[in-house]
Amino acid sequence: MQLYALDGTSPVSSSSAEKGKNYLCPECKAQVRLRGGPSRQTHFYHYRPSKNCRQNQKSLEHLQMQLKLIDLIGCGEGHIECPFHEINRIADVAWHAKKIVFEVQCSPLSLEEAQTRTLDYQKTGYQILWILHDNQFNQQRLSAAESYLRTQFCYFTNINKIGEGIVYDQFEVLKRERRLFKGHPLAVSPVKILRLPKASLSTEHFPKILLRRLLNWKSYAKGDLLDRLLKEGIFSSSAKRMLIIESHLEKERKETLKSLPLRTLLAKSYLAALNWLLRKNS
Ligand SMILES: [Zn+2]
Repeated sequence: MQLYALDGTSPVSSSSAEKGKNYLCPECKAQVRLRGGPSRQTHFYHYRPSKNCRQNQKSLEHLQMQLKLIDLIGCGEGHIECPFHEINRIADVAWHAKKIVFEVQCSPLSLEEAQTRTLDYQKTGYQILWILHDNQFNQQRLSAAESYLRTQFCYFTNINKIGEGIVYDQFEVLKRERRLFKGHPLAVSPVKILRLPKASLSTEHFPKILLRRLLNWKSYAKGDLLDRLLKEGIFSSSAKRMLIIESHLEKERKETLKSLPLRTLLAKSYLAALNWLLRKNS
């Protein structure tokens, strides 16, 4: 379902378009028209259906997420279906002031597509924030693409067809392409983005999920796991819980860890985390 089209070169939303008039699809430039009515959300449809156009295949949940992001960014600064001509792509939502592109993913994708899309936007100097819909992702089994995307700047959403739902982060333990543990959804503000401090880490027993992010991510969002840990403090019960769960699942895998008492593990982790925080704030 498509809520945006071009009237000449100007974007037009389905709420302000006219029936019977010809518009252009922003992606494939084919002719689209408006349909819908009192019992169905008005939207554009391809006059001649195109198999290759991504706009043609977008679900209502996908569009609701795009609209929510535009609303959250505010001040007219978010751009929906924003073309990046140099890489021949159209971003779901682009925020030029922050050099961020939001890519919403509600359907399966290949590992190659996930990697090339990420790298393409990086080439343009934009950071990509992936938002994966949990109808398709965040299940027990991970596709190769999801395994890759979970190492990137990425959260989940449970938004529904009428736009209700949240963007969320979670504590999780992944092993190869299996999700061994997932915590409660933690609501994230996907447009309150903070830069990760550059810090050299000697945090052998820092929760692994956060270590990976410190190594791979450039930013994090308000409300996410790292943000909460920094606010609650590394001595909080949730931080302790993360370490215990990770080390427990690690123990199942690695018998050698049994020789290290849990108290030693935790003490080491706190020291490492404290060092990191001190470095960050200095
Ligand atoms: Zn199209």
